[in-house]
Amino acid sequence: MSKVEKELVKDPVCGMIKPKDKMRAVSIFMGKKYHFCTEGDKKMFKAHPEHWVPRGGD
Ligand SMILES: [Zn+2]
Repeated sequence: MSKVEKELVKDPVCGMIKPKDKMRAVSIFMGKKYHFCTEGDKKMFKAHPEHWVPRGGD
Protein backbone atom coordinates (compact mmCIF):
# COMPACT_ATOMS: atom_id res chain seq x y z
CA MET A 1 0.00 0.00 0.00
CA SER A 2 1.60 3.20 -1.11
CA LYS A 3 0.12 6.58 -0.34
CA VAL A 4 2.47 8.24 -2.80
CA GLU A 5 1.11 6.37 -5.82
CA LYS A 6 -2.46 7.35 -5.00
CA GLU A 7 -1.57 10.98 -4.63
CA LEU A 8 -3.48 13.17 -7.07
CA VAL A 9 -1.42 15.46 -9.21
CA LYS A 10 -2.36 18.10 -11.75
CA ASP A 11 -1.00 18.22 -15.26
CA PRO A 12 -0.15 21.93 -15.55
CA VAL A 13 -0.59 21.93 -19.33
CA CYS A 14 -4.09 20.48 -19.83
CA GLY A 15 -5.34 20.80 -16.24
CA MET A 16 -6.13 17.09 -15.87
CA ILE A 17 -6.02 15.76 -12.30
CA LYS A 18 -5.06 12.10 -11.93
CA PRO A 19 -3.31 9.75 -9.52
CA LYS A 20 0.43 10.13 -9.90
CA ASP A 21 0.85 6.56 -11.13
CA LYS A 22 -1.52 7.20 -14.06
CA MET A 23 0.56 10.03 -15.40
CA ARG A 24 2.77 9.14 -18.37
CA ALA A 25 5.55 11.70 -18.10
CA VAL A 26 7.44 13.73 -15.55
CA SER A 27 9.56 16.85 -15.78
CA ILE A 28 11.46 18.87 -13.22
CA PHE A 29 11.43 22.66 -13.39
CA MET A 30 12.93 24.99 -10.78
CA GLY A 31 13.44 22.02 -8.47
CA LYS A 32 9.77 20.99 -8.61
CA LYS A 33 8.35 17.89 -10.21
CA TYR A 34 5.51 18.20 -12.71
CA HIS A 35 3.45 15.30 -14.02
CA PHE A 36 1.85 15.02 -17.45
CA CYS A 37 -0.85 12.73 -18.81
CA THR A 38 0.88 12.52 -22.21
CA GLU A 39 4.35 12.99 -23.67
CA GLY A 40 2.82 15.73 -25.82
CA ASP A 41 1.88 17.74 -22.72
CA LYS A 42 5.42 17.31 -21.42
CA LYS A 43 6.86 18.57 -24.72
CA MET A 44 4.65 21.66 -24.55
CA PHE A 45 5.72 22.24 -20.97
CA LYS A 46 9.42 21.90 -21.77
CA ALA A 47 9.14 24.35 -24.64
CA HIS A 48 7.93 27.13 -22.29
CA PRO A 49 7.90 25.91 -18.68
CA GLU A 50 7.52 29.41 -17.22
CA HIS A 51 4.26 29.79 -19.14
CA TRP A 52 2.64 26.75 -17.48
CA VAL A 53 3.87 27.04 -13.92
CA PRO A 54 1.31 28.73 -11.66
CA ARG A 55 2.61 31.97 -10.26
CA GLY A 56 2.43 33.48 -6.81
CA GLY A 57 2.90 31.51 -3.62
CA ASP A 58 4.18 28.01 -3.35
ZN1 LIG B 1 -2.32 16.46 -19.97
